[in-house]
Amino acid sequence: MAHIITRPCCNDASCVPVCPVNCIHPTPSEPDFATAEMLYIDPDACIDCGACVSECPVSAIIPDHAIRDEHELYVKLNADYFTDHQVDYGYFPAQYDESVPEVVGELTVAIVGAGPAGMFAAQELLRVEKSKVDVYDRLPTPHGLVRAGVAPDHQATKGIEETFSRIADDPRFTYVLGVEVGVDLTVDELSAHYDAVLLTVGASTDRQLGIPGARLGGVIGASEFVRWYNAHPDATDLHPDFSSDTAVIIGNGNVALDIARILATPAEDLASTDIAGHALNALRGSAITDIYVVARRGAADSAFTNQEFAALMDTPQVNVLVEPETLAVDSDAAMDSTVRNKIELLGRCAVTVDERGGRRVHVRHLATPVAIVGDRRVESISFRRTGSPDESVTTIQAGLVIPSIGYAGTAISGLPFDADTGTIPNVDGRVRGEDGDARPGVYVSGWIRRGPSGGIGMNKSDAKQVALAIIEDFRAGRNPLPRSYDRDALLALAEQRGASVVGLDGWRRIDTAELEAGRALARARMKLTTRGEMVRIATTGRR
Ligand code: NAP
Repeated sequence: MAHIITRPCCNDASCVPVCPVNCIHPTPSEPDFATAEMLYIDPDACIDCGACVSECPVSAIIPDHAIRDEHELYVKLNADYFTDHQVDYGYFPAQYDESVPEVVGELTVAIVGAGPAGMFAAQELLRVEKSKVDVYDRLPTPHGLVRAGVAPDHQATKGIEETFSRIADDPRFTYVLGVEVGVDLTVDELSAHYDAVLLTVGASTDRQLGIPGARLGGVIGASEFVRWYNAHPDATDLHPDFSSDTAVIIGNGNVALDIARILATPAEDLASTDIAGHALNALRGSAITDIYVVARRGAADSAFTNQEFAALMDTPQVNVLVEPETLAVDSDAAMDSTVRNKIELLGRCAVTVDERGGRRVHVRHLATPVAIVGDRRVESISFRRTGSPDESVTTIQAGLVIPSIGYAGTAISGLPFDADTGTIPNVDGRVRGEDGDARPGVYVSGWIRRGPSGGIGMNKSDAKQVALAIIEDFRAGRNPLPRSYDRDALLALAEQRGASVVGLDGWRRIDTAELEAGRALARARMKLTTRGEMVRIATTGRR
């Protein structure tokens, strides 16, 4: 048997260059990489050397001797990829050449956003011998969606934080946390002090559903709900209502499945995780028994990845139920192995009568939402069958509706913004408005550059490209920027405007306090929920 890659795979491809036989695919230089649900190990080529196991930041690779019955699906997913994908065994992907062009002088970069896109970009820029990288974030805590997006029952995925921690250890790396660019400091003020300003601010809000009733009480956007259960300080006042027996999630991407799992999992099974204390308490009193995950397209076009659907199926005491008739509409003709496995997994849940106990997650397809109905608060949501001339609607009575239809970026004062895609227009990461006007020295990477798709590790190849653009522009003297690097002056200005700046030491104090508080309660971490508490602990080390 060969090694296999399993659910937590973050696609950062750090396993790829260490494989002596190049059996892990798609590599970042292959066309499928940008859309791959995960990476796969070719069972016919793997020599079981184990080099990839220690390289994986999220412990997703299982050595052959540890493969058990419960990994059967991943044995299949790994092998199936190689049945219908042309693989380039050429050695080695040029993109994974870790050398950088030689740079004369000191390159200073302000990165705005301490999430995965920002941290991977810092890693790339620190390869330049004399670079200095200051990473700003509006929160007193770093790591963006790894902290405030990854579901609490997916602790393995958070293993990537160790990689981020090693990046932050570099003496040429500085955290400037608790400073909001666009509010406490402007992009122009940063530009006056750095050779380059790189925005990696992600997508912090929800795409709008735009149907009647979407603003009723009890309708909560996915990004807000996810921030709430992850203890983001901006979402502590959400108070979702769990008093009805039914919740409806619109959309069936991985965020929708994360939310379905959190709503369906018995609260006690979440108690050992780092879920927010307020969320755990609220979920303990939840009356929800039925959760609908409703997609407008057919089964073959389901937005979730196979490994995340399998994780939902494997959730203890949760029944996943799929309407068999929506599986029949897909023709086998154009299916690759990923889609075939999608249909097969859904088929395993195809039941017409549920006779099992526990909470139920009903997965529905071909249902387009038309209206959310209620008097101040949601009472029901109606759907029309997608693509059918029949105008009749079906209705689900529900007290909680969560549109999970994708995240959207927000505009940053002084920079161009494409409201349709929720991104900052750019060419190869270089910011450029619609009329072609460039902003020399200002760059974007991650979701604010390419839109809200792809998991954590996808940001690594993006970061590499943009870092190279920054380095090339610096070498060519393309950015006519003042060269007065003065971080202290910027921090003083931000503090004068009300910011409370937290650095690496302060973040470490917060981290330690949260881990210790968690340990005392047999929890992975007890997250702080207010900026005030975070800043106090960052400054004094005490609660
Ligand atoms: P997503 O994958 O883009 O899914 C969005 C869903 O919303 C799709 O089902 C889409 O349907 C639906 N939708 C969009 N507009 C709609 C409308 N007007 N009415 C009804 N449905 C609508 O987005 P996401 O779930 O927010 O995830 C974002 C990215 O993060 C994804 O790449 C995801 O894989 C990644 N992520 C990964 C993990 C993980 O690996 N564990 C966890 C969370 C997120 P259509 O397909 O028909 O447009």
